[in-house]
Amino acid sequence: MRSKTIATSSGPYVVHIGEGALTCLGDVVTGASSVVIVTDDVVAPLHGSKVIDALADVKPTVHEWTVPSGEASKSLWQAESFYDFLASKSCDRSTMIVALGGGVVGDLAGFVAGTWMRGVRFVNCPTTLLAMVDASIGGKTGLNHAGRKNAVGVFHQPEAVFVDVTTLTTLDDRAFNAGMAESIKHGVIANEAFLSWQMDHAQEIRGRESHVLEELVTGNIEIKAAHVEQDERDQTEVRAKLNFGHTIGHAIEVVSGYALPHGECVGLGMLAACRIAIVRGLVDEDVRDRLVEALNAFSLPCEFTSRGNISMIMSALHGDKKSVGGVARFVLPTKIGEVTVGHDVDDVEIESAIAELIE
Ligand code: NAD
Repeated sequence: MRSKTIATSSGPYVVHIGEGALTCLGDVVTGASSVVIVTDDVVAPLHGSKVIDALADVKPTVHEWTVPSGEASKSLWQAESFYDFLASKSCDRSTMIVALGGGVVGDLAGFVAGTWMRGVRFVNCPTTLLAMVDASIGGKTGLNHAGRKNAVGVFHQPEAVFVDVTTLTTLDDRAFNAGMAESIKHGVIANEAFLSWQMDHAQEIRGRESHVLEELVTGNIEIKAAHVEQDERDQTEVRAKLNFGHTIGHAIEVVSGYALPHGECVGLGMLAACRIAIVRGLVDEDVRDRLVEALNAFSLPCEFTSRGNISMIMSALHGDKKSVGGVARFVLPTKIGEVTVGHDVDDVEIESAIAELIE
């Protein structure tokens, strides 16, 4: 078992990474009046018993709350239903909320944990690769609203994170590969050697070999931690680097009606951002070629069939919270392992970069 401690202004938390990490969950519930496990209807039958078993001998009462699988559960409506459930179980300020699932469950559970009684204890148990390498770390929570991705949210740090890589054995290939998009992103923005390592170990990663997955998740968490520890509340340019690929990626995700997985959209967004950087003379074509090679290694799409025309994507992009005064702000690469932030990019440049991605 590996562990990584992450510093926050409200104190450090430990990320436990390894086979069987969930069995240690009982160690952190001390002092809670009740524990509420939040999961989705796909994860519950596959992995719910691992959490129930881990909490079998604890003192607090354990409740379960299951939401439908999918992005639609990141809604104020779903949060309100969850508040009703917490009220019906007399959950108080000493309740602990435990998320078991992908980024959707983590974002919803984290948001409710951050707002119920002005904030209760929260533990995250990610079960998708994307949630393990990215969403479970950093304290961001988010709900979608009025056609805007993560329009409503709070910062709420977990008390601990348990990454049990054995849960990935049940994840379908498309969802697994979508997680690799965020992992590739970490290499491109911060660590060329880490990107190369992923390419060298692509076969073992795709084969989901536990020891390689542990190393993969740990490498990602180290990169993400380095950014969020320096800029916990996303107030400087440090954390903004993690948004590489997300400006256009979020817009494609919204316009697809969330039919395209988040990671696939981030991959497409990274390609578009690379094109903008090439046209501006910030990087050569070979940076985009390496990105394409990495996306191909994990069967991630490099083009998509537009489910809306470019004008719909542009409109979603201007509504994104990374836009300032209606002008899209971009993170652009300067080489593999380095990006710069805060580029104002005009609509003509963006439209032409998106057009290149449409089949
Ligand atoms: P997801 O939570 O929708 O999970 C993808 C699918 O996999 C779902 O159908 C889920 O039921 C299923 N699943 C989960 N674990 C499984 C398992 N072990 N076996 C089989 N099926 C399993 O999607 P995701 O890709 O994990 O997360 C995407 C979300 O994360 C987006 O909403 C995105 O905005 C958010 N996100 C948040 C942050 C953050 O910092 N808070 C960062 C990145 C992404």
